Amino acid sequence: MFRCNNIASDWATRIGVKPTQVQIRPMNTKWASISTSGRMTLSSELLSLPKELGEFVIVHELVHLLVPNHGKVFKSFMLAYMPDWEIREQQIQTYANKELSDKVDRRSNPKNKARE
Ligand SMILES: [Zn+2]
Repeated sequence: MFRCNNIASDWATRIGVKPTQVQIRPMNTKWASISTSGRMTLSSELLSLPKELGEFVIVHELVHLLVPNHGKVFKSFMLAYMPDWEIREQQIQTYANKELSDKVDRRSNPKNKARE
């Protein structure tokens, strides 16, 4: 079974970030999201996917604690921690048409952050 919490804390240590909370719940349009304060929400659907895909989503979210957008710096972190991340990104899109994640937007108002 895919154990989000263990995997998330292992990766957080490796990347050097500290998510304040990891929550798993059904999400209709996203695989996961993370707030600037470090609250990570994972779609419960991830539990039934291959482990490497859930792991990819977690790493993606954790890297957002270093880089809030999907720019070049973000991609170079992804490459450093997970060299095959682009393959995993393509694979996960074959399971469901969900967005990979929220871009963490520091300017957005708190209502938007709470949204899925
Ligand atoms: Zn993202």
